[in-house]
Amino acid sequence: MIQIIFVQNFNTMEGKKVRVRFAPSPTGPLHIGGVRTALYNYLFAKKYDGDFLLRIEDTDSNRFVPGAEEYIVDSLRWCGIEFTEGVGIGGPHAPYRQSERKDIYLKYALQLVESGNAYYAFDTSEELDNLRKSQEAKGMAFTYNYEVRTRLKTSLNPEYADYQERIKKGEPWVIRFKMPVNQNVHMNDLIRGEVIVNTSALDDKVLFKSADGLPTYHLANVTDDYLMRITHVIRGEEWLPSLPLHVLLYKSFGWESKMPLFAHLPLLLKPDGKGKLSKRDGDRLGFPVFPKHWDDPATKELVKGYDDYGFLPQAFINFLALLGWNPGTEQEIFNINELADAFSLDKVSKAGAKFDFEKAKWFNHQYIQKLTNKQLAEMICSVLDEKGIKCEMSYLADICGLVKERMFFLNDFWANAYFFFQSPEGYDAEAVKKRWKDNVPELLKDVKAVLSDISHFEANSINDTLHHHVEAKQISMGVLMNALRICMVGASFGPDLPLIMEVVGKEETLRRIDKALNEIKL
Ligand code: GLU
Repeated sequence: MIQIIFVQNFNTMEGKKVRVRFAPSPTGPLHIGGVRTALYNYLFAKKYDGDFLLRIEDTDSNRFVPGAEEYIVDSLRWCGIEFTEGVGIGGPHAPYRQSERKDIYLKYALQLVESGNAYYAFDTSEELDNLRKSQEAKGMAFTYNYEVRTRLKTSLNPEYADYQERIKKGEPWVIRFKMPVNQNVHMNDLIRGEVIVNTSALDDKVLFKSADGLPTYHLANVTDDYLMRITHVIRGEEWLPSLPLHVLLYKSFGWESKMPLFAHLPLLLKPDGKGKLSKRDGDRLGFPVFPKHWDDPATKELVKGYDDYGFLPQAFINFLALLGWNPGTEQEIFNINELADAFSLDKVSKAGAKFDFEKAKWFNHQYIQKLTNKQLAEMICSVLDEKGIKCEMSYLADICGLVKERMFFLNDFWANAYFFFQSPEGYDAEAVKKRWKDNVPELLKDVKAVLSDISHFEANSINDTLHHHVEAKQISMGVLMNALRICMVGASFGPDLPLIMEVVGKEETLRRIDKALNEIKL
């Protein structure tokens, strides 16, 4: 058995500028797994002062989804993942959209035919379907490989010696890779170590199709990585099965010395660890799987993203970076520069990373606490605009300071702060049942009088007054405060009560006590 050994030289980075790429296909919105791939590429490039390219792999016109490319670019921008070269910004290897590089690939496909590493095939899709079905009927799978390629409609079949004539006559053809027979391909993955695959298990993949004049993913991907001088291919584990073919393509082209190093990232798993996190899991499990919202052009469905939930991109990125990579320390909070400094492929795990939305929430909470009150106010002021509420930024910032601790998402602001802007619209039934004791109306009428006598209506004096009052009257502070909170908030949560009273002012405080007395009937 012949062995093809490609033990990659781990030192090829020396003296060479790191060049990595994110190469999504615009087949729909970018899933968080894709964002993580982009992020790791970005961090790797940033760490080594290298280049980070965005290349759009859109050669499969059947799977093209309008708007997907824009979505990818917008999402990366929202995350703060900047690329140095690529679609939208250009660079020395432009164009970076494969459909615009159409003319490049045929030459390479033909080169492989000439060197005996590829061949023409003329089977129609109907014929291939029939072959598949007849094999299935026998309980077997059809594989286009060394066993059948000399018997099917190919330039390797002596019966098709006239294949050049067929091409001239315009009969549609494809070029397929001629997979070597029974050879072991040894590959080194920077995360997984040595991977060995026997070529007999692999099929003869289509590389180029005359019907649309376009290459398939494999040919376009390898050719472009070579032409764009990519030094490291960092991509999802789902591409690992393609690695032997890609490595053999480099060999067949005579490009081994320029072959990039490969790193296949672990899968993102469902929260229970059972299977890959899919695009549909978001709806099913109640958390977003897309960075930004996506208006599906086909179904007209509006799918929520992390931005809709009120995630800060910095928190999202920090959370995502740790799904599959660990810094080797206890540190969890990293800004993007710290991530780049700490990042290394050898700390990326081989095992899939379980998605944990509670952890994502924890990160967002941490990042919201890190914001200054003014920064938070600027981020949430549109909520007030939408409600037609006018308010000074400094006032809003003070309120942000009071409720920040209770906010896990930016969208949590209103639910935790509405009572600073309007009196409660209703009263939480459970809170009333538990806390609105029979003597409460009497207590409130009395306390109203003392509150209205306070000349400087601010938290400290309100607090002192309330304390003197309960002592003098020998009543329970707890019962009074709980009842006042229901008046002010409509429920039994919220920041320090005297502070809420100070912020809304004396008149409004007294009005809310009256309103509750009128509206809460036991
Ligand atoms: N176009 C492939 C994708 O959609 C790229 C895979 C790779 O990075 O080689 O993910």
